Amino acid sequence: MHFQRVKGFQDIYGEQVAYYRQACAIAKELFTLFHVEELNTPILEKSEIFNRSIGENTDIVEKEMFSFLDRDGSTLCLRPEGTAGALRAYIDNGCPKELERLYYLGAMFRRENPQKGRFRQFTQIGVEFIGSSSPFTDAEVISLFDNFFNKVGLSKIAHLEINSVGCADCRRKYYEKLTAYLTPFREELCGDCTRRLLKNPLRVFDCKNPKCANIINGAPLILDNLCDMCEKQFEEVKKYLEIFKVDYTLNPRMVRGLDYYTRTAFEMTTDRLGAASALGGGGRYDKLISILGGPDISGVGFAIGLDRVIALMMEENFAIEKRVPDIYIITFPDTFEQGAALLAEVRKAGFYAIMEYEISGVKAQMKRANRSKARYAAILGEDELKENKISLKDMQTSTQQIINLTQLFNFLRSN
Ligand SMILES: [Zn+2]
Ligand SMILES: [Zn+2]
Repeated sequence: MHFQRVKGFQDIYGEQVAYYRQACAIAKELFTLFHVEELNTPILEKSEIFNRSIGENTDIVEKEMFSFLDRDGSTLCLRPEGTAGALRAYIDNGCPKELERLYYLGAMFRRENPQKGRFRQFTQIGVEFIGSSSPFTDAEVISLFDNFFNKVGLSKIAHLEINSVGCADCRRKYYEKLTAYLTPFREELCGDCTRRLLKNPLRVFDCKNPKCANIINGAPLILDNLCDMCEKQFEEVKKYLEIFKVDYTLNPRMVRGLDYYTRTAFEMTTDRLGAASALGGGGRYDKLISILGGPDISGVGFAIGLDRVIALMMEENFAIEKRVPDIYIITFPDTFEQGAALLAEVRKAGFYAIMEYEISGVKAQMKRANRSKARYAAILGEDELKENKISLKDMQTSTQQIINLTQLFNFLRSN
């Protein structure tokens, strides 16, 4: 019998673990600097939340949710993204603050075709700034987003793109223009786009079908059709991005795969992952909180696909900070138990210590101590122990000295 993991799912194991740990540590450090607090929401939510927030006609809701009928007849699903749950939690908890700055980090689920850096269970780091409609917060969120990619060493291969997708007002007029442009091409568009044309024309910009590319390239752009308010807001966002020294490219064709974005939209892209080019993205949502039953306030946020980031960090040989053992305790058959006692003591004192679990030869132990990259090997000889002393070998310089056991902690601390 040989069990394998479910298709599209991954184990995070071995070398990868250190990358996940480091990337999360970098993100958490940034969240502290940007005054963002942690939020944890359940993995399971009512499907309705996503139907309402992400939109019924999006790929996520139509094809990719892991949803199922619960025993009480309600439809539940594994969360496909984090924003809806975060806002649901904010509202469920009585909208505790007028201005809320939250982050989450966890597993999301979408039944997509697995490919490089794309899994059916994936890890997202997300941020939501709730309660401000100021363009300053858009720029702040984008700056935080951009900072993360710099800190994980991807600034050279990841590119920040921004756009404005307008508000309901400018979109209504724009949809008329876009529909008028696309309708004559109806026969030539792919099946998905013909459906989008009827239900949600902006989504044609998500189409990856080469058949549609030429037609969509000639389509009018939302950025050229913004209302005065949206235009002004976007100018302000760009102004603050310059003040924050964030480099970006304007991409008027980027619309993001989610219906709820209004005005500012942004994405971090790379050409290193084939079709899965986005490493993360986000935008402003003016109506989402009220759609989910909350007050009529605005928010802005992003999500980063951590698995793709990790794949690239590994390719780029990002230097991982790895903690090495402070001390490797080497014993003789007669001093094995004293070694065990010392092991417990050094760990209690806060040092990273290793000792072998079976009596073995000193030479073999020394070899493994070397491989462990420990700073020091402590050799516990019987004669020295009688005088309360041990022999300490610096593994870098190979110099050895006898020190008093009572001095060991001080020595480790100061060297
Ligand atoms: Zn507008
Ligand atoms: Zn198409």
